Amino acid sequence: MKNSIGVIGLGVMGGNIALNMANNGEQVAVYNYTRDLTDNLIAKLDGQTLTPYYEVEDFVQSLEIPRKIFVMVTAGAAIDSVISSLIPHLEEGDVIMDGGNSFYEDTERRYDELKEKGIGYLGIGVSGGEVGALTGPSIMPGGDKEVYEKVAPILTKIAAQVDGDPCCVYIGPRGAGHFVKMVHNGIEYADMQLIAEAYTFLREKLNLSVEEIADIFETWNQGELQSYLIEITAEILRKKDEETGLPLIDVILDKAGQKGTGKWTSIQAIDNGIPTSIITESLFARYISAIKDERVAAQSILSGPEHEQASLDKNVWIDYVRQALYMGKVCAYAQGFTQYKTSSDLYGWDLPLKDIALIFRGGCIIRAKFLNVISEAYQEQADLANLLISPYFAEQIKDYQNGLRKVVCEGIQSGIAFPCLSSSLSYYDSYRTGRSNANILQAQRDYFGAHTYERTDVKGAFHTNWQ
Ligand code: NDP
Repeated sequence: MKNSIGVIGLGVMGGNIALNMANNGEQVAVYNYTRDLTDNLIAKLDGQTLTPYYEVEDFVQSLEIPRKIFVMVTAGAAIDSVISSLIPHLEEGDVIMDGGNSFYEDTERRYDELKEKGIGYLGIGVSGGEVGALTGPSIMPGGDKEVYEKVAPILTKIAAQVDGDPCCVYIGPRGAGHFVKMVHNGIEYADMQLIAEAYTFLREKLNLSVEEIADIFETWNQGELQSYLIEITAEILRKKDEETGLPLIDVILDKAGQKGTGKWTSIQAIDNGIPTSIITESLFARYISAIKDERVAAQSILSGPEHEQASLDKNVWIDYVRQALYMGKVCAYAQGFTQYKTSSDLYGWDLPLKDIALIFRGGCIIRAKFLNVISEAYQEQADLANLLISPYFAEQIKDYQNGLRKVVCEGIQSGIAFPCLSSSLSYYDSYRTGRSNANILQAQRDYFGAHTYERTDVKGAFHTNWQ
């Protein structure tokens, strides 16, 4: 009997995706270019059936036609190398799926190359980490719709299910799936940093203990802030270090890593004139965290504010922080979804924004209760320019902006860096300012470079002899 699907790359994600497929009744062939990972996976089988292969050709020949191959290897050169090793053994109509975090432009190049050979290629965003891969991730497939149809029964089955619907929907042509995953990760960076800043306020300004903050996050997770990231942050805060007995977060070095998807999100936004300041600030926050030695040296050279710190009413301020965090999240998601909309218009992708919000509700790292409302906003108005002006959010953030203002002002006065909270506020205030200060910029540009300016009253390009 032939295998119904093959998985290549049996690391953290690929091994669990293969198990997930087997758990869902698929006959799965597995292959890894080094033998150990294959043997390790087979050794830990718990009743499932996976069939290991140690030669690419045997692996490919074991598959039903059209062959369906899910590749889950390190993004970059590894995926090109895997594709090259597969091509000699494939036939027209076969399908390769790349489930790794590939850059969407690389996916488009690979799509074009394989299309010429008649081989279907899908760039598939997968979110959910190690556990999601096993129990149901959020899946964002991009490529030809008819190619997607060949694998849709398997992908929708292994995806997370929310309210009876799979967290997997056809995203759009070519690199659209990997693009959506990329921006998802950008939003994730911002969401994480906003949570870190809310934590800082509670710890440093309100002098709460780590345990008290864990309680607050747990309470917040019962309301409109309910999300995977809030939930795991509460759990993280409760974890004790086995060596010292201290909260584990107090012994974790404050240097954040990153693997590139957040950076790509910002680069694409900058290249296309899309204001994603909160997402980009969250990336820069990781960069500045990484220069730990410099920060430690600067601490003894640079001074902070001198004014006396007012003591704050805890309960009142905990609620301001909740509002600030929610408002920051709304602004960050507004930026990410604006990036989807603008890029969709630019590339002609017709991204299904309301469905994207829905498939983010399960499996993925940014899963959150308020994605339902985001989906409804796009359901009501598919061409909504910005989430902030949807009737629901415009009404809700009327009050919440005050919490954000108070927290940002208090933080600034105390000398605490709040890159994402303050950027959220600037974004909100810039976006609602009908007449900005860009007239000054245009005048300066015309003064030193004769770049001309437009007028508010008459159409055309004008130049003034300023001296
Ligand atoms: P791992 O490092 O655990 O696994 C990487 C896999 O790629 C291994 O099977 C490795 O084999 C294989 N590989 C590396 N180089 C080559 C090569 N030149 N040729 C063939 N195979 C190669 O990574 P993950 O499983 O975490 O990640 C896999 C992909 O999934 C990545 O693109 C990642 O960005 C993406 N992803 C990861 C998530 C996560 O939470 N970890 C979430 C969503 C996506 P070997 O070990 O034998 O070298």
